[in-house]
Amino acid sequence: MVPNDAPLRLILDGAALVSNWRWLSNKAGAPAGAAVKADGYGLGAREVSRRLAEAGCRDFFVATWAEADALGALPFGAGLSVLHGVREEDMAAALASRARPVLNSPAMVARWKAAAPGRPCDVMVDTGINRLGLAMADAVSGLLDGLEIDLLMSHLACADEPGSAMNGRQRERFADAAARIPARRYSLANSAGACLGPDYGFDLVRPGIGLYGGIPRPEAAGHIAPVVRIEAQILQIRDVPAGETVGYGATFTAAAPTRIAVLNLGYADGYLRAFAGHGTVRAGGQVRPLAGRVSMDLIAADIGDAPVEEGGWLEVDYALEAAAAATGLSQYELLTGLGSRYQRAWTD
Ligand SMILES: *Cc1c(COP(=O)(O)O)cnc(C)c1O
Repeated sequence: MVPNDAPLRLILDGAALVSNWRWLSNKAGAPAGAAVKADGYGLGAREVSRRLAEAGCRDFFVATWAEADALGALPFGAGLSVLHGVREEDMAAALASRARPVLNSPAMVARWKAAAPGRPCDVMVDTGINRLGLAMADAVSGLLDGLEIDLLMSHLACADEPGSAMNGRQRERFADAAARIPARRYSLANSAGACLGPDYGFDLVRPGIGLYGGIPRPEAAGHIAPVVRIEAQILQIRDVPAGETVGYGATFTAAAPTRIAVLNLGYADGYLRAFAGHGTVRAGGQVRPLAGRVSMDLIAADIGDAPVEEGGWLEVDYALEAAAAATGLSQYELLTGLGSRYQRAWTD
């Protein structure tokens, strides 16, 4: 556990998380589950799941059985799906778990039929992404006969790309699969897919990034609220004389006497070197630039005459869309890279 007095923290907005979840569901005209893999995209899967379950979310998605185990108990009636399915090595954990595997390959189907006949599972069919999932020809070949399929799903390759013809093609293929493969429910869309509206909603949507404040498509701008803020503590303030440099590589030279705050945050916390030259902090109501490179555990900011002192806290700007544009990192990388050294403090 990270102590409450850790020198860096994520301020996480539980009301925004729930409001994003509701908006995505309304936009898709279908109930929404929640992808909480990668420890809830870096926010903390347990805390995320508890809040969404309280709001009524009943379907959760993780990648692996270790993640399913780490999630702990979910409320009665909530379902958990393990997206990567069952390898041979997973069978003991899978049989001991109440989570359902998402069967992705003929070998996985055979494994589940042999070890857990009649026990519910989910199935992924591939409709064009050619990542995980059964080829359509296999899926309709009789291979799935005898399975108790709760959720039949597929995954969109280009839902976040405005104007892509892939979406309609995958939607048609999935509708065809849904007509031919009996299952209790059908699900196609991630966050970006949910933004495409009710044609893509089917019985359930599976948002991840949008829950956490990512803007998956332009339609979501102004509706999806930020969930994550970064705050880092000032470890030292120094006055750097004109002509002196700051940080590794001496890439910043003070043009005039400059007040520098050294903050407890670095690339080991997911604040990558790509922020050098782009990153900003809030100091006493002012937006102030970073000075020099990002170190493993430290950054320096030019704080001007802002009324801040050693031991104080500064917000480090982390608006996902803007940060992604500035750094070339994806909004997914910006969240899932947040390390384990933050105190994660929820409001709500
Ligand atoms: C990760 C994942 C999601 C969620 O995707 P977002 O783009 O984060 O909304 C949904 N479905 C599957 C199969 C996934 O792997």
